[in-house]
Amino acid sequence: MQQTGIAHPYLDAAREILPEVIALRRRLHRVPEIGLGLPLTQALILEALSGLGLEPVAGVTVGSVVATIEGARPGPTILLRADMDGLPLTEETGLDFASEHDGRMHACGHDTHVAMLMGAARLLIDDRAAWRGRVLLMFQPGEEGFHGARYMLEEGLLEQSGGERPSGAFALHISTLYETGTIDVRPGPMLASGDTLRITVRGRGGHASTPHTAVDPITVAAEIVLALQLMVTRRVDAFDPAVVTIAQVVAGTTTNIIPETAFLAGTMRTVSAARREAVKAEIRRVCDGIAAAHGASVELEIEPGYPVTVNDDAFTALVLAAAREVVGEEQTRLLPAPIMGAEDFSYVLQQVPGAMAFVGARPPDIDPATAPMNHSNRVVFDESAMAAGIATYVGVARRFLSVS
Ligand SMILES: [Zn+2]
Repeated sequence: MQQTGIAHPYLDAAREILPEVIALRRRLHRVPEIGLGLPLTQALILEALSGLGLEPVAGVTVGSVVATIEGARPGPTILLRADMDGLPLTEETGLDFASEHDGRMHACGHDTHVAMLMGAARLLIDDRAAWRGRVLLMFQPGEEGFHGARYMLEEGLLEQSGGERPSGAFALHISTLYETGTIDVRPGPMLASGDTLRITVRGRGGHASTPHTAVDPITVAAEIVLALQLMVTRRVDAFDPAVVTIAQVVAGTTTNIIPETAFLAGTMRTVSAARREAVKAEIRRVCDGIAAAHGASVELEIEPGYPVTVNDDAFTALVLAAAREVVGEEQTRLLPAPIMGAEDFSYVLQQVPGAMAFVGARPPDIDPATAPMNHSNRVVFDESAMAAGIATYVGVARRFLSVS
């Protein structure tokens, strides 16, 4: 760790078990799996939890795992989450524990999340006599666009802690955006909603030399691409922002044919539920209006992605207090603005007041300006940051289970 001056019992305990946490992380890192069914990952998690003396329960509809840790006395329940899935990338980090599978990589650090939560579970079990209530451990598959958390909720996740629903929920996400060992969090919107747009403009094909006899879908599509950007600047409050990006444009076959259709696809991001609905309506209006103006028609599909991840104010205050205590004042920061990425822990936070925080893991020897980010096939996380993550999980749980 860089911040060698920081000492707190939870952090010391986390550093002590770090070698075994790193070993688990590396085992997972070698065998990334993608999506909702992750048999190898699930088996490793079941084995590790059983090794801690817990009685883990495997998911029925998806490859999830939950387990409960009971405190010494009755009390409230807190949910702690780790996601488990990798990404469809071929790893190029050169690490000696790199992925053994081309086209699959733990490029978002979910392997570290599993290992950190397992470490936290161990420390919470060791200290079980000192706290009351329950900790519900949630290991979820399919965070990367597969709505794994939603499936777990539908399967009764919140009833799986002995009948008592969790009254708090917490998740950490590792990131190379921040220097190693730091905790970043904010009250209110933490991450954006992310919905996928697919727009098909239908015109009438013809000869490229006589466009007046055809209805050119390409010029209509081009106007829609620009009009969407204009809409964002003119119709969206700068303090309740939105991002609309058309990332794919497909049309035509050759130089002398006006095609029948043009296809656009992209993403829309917002940081409030109200803005999300308003922007959907604006996109529809822009598409319909521009198509109609030129005698074309348009089909708009907005595939719902994850909702906005909203941190509860009071719970975030608890996270800040816990992090300041365990990783230190300087390593704990209030994130000034939401991140426009999306996260399916949002589904949990819609039902349970809680928060998500980032744990920084940018290796100290890498230039922040060029450090490979999460989702890069060259991303490298500083494993020592996992001690800060473990200590924060423990600190948040212990604080929650002693004051609420
Ligand atoms: Zn992730």
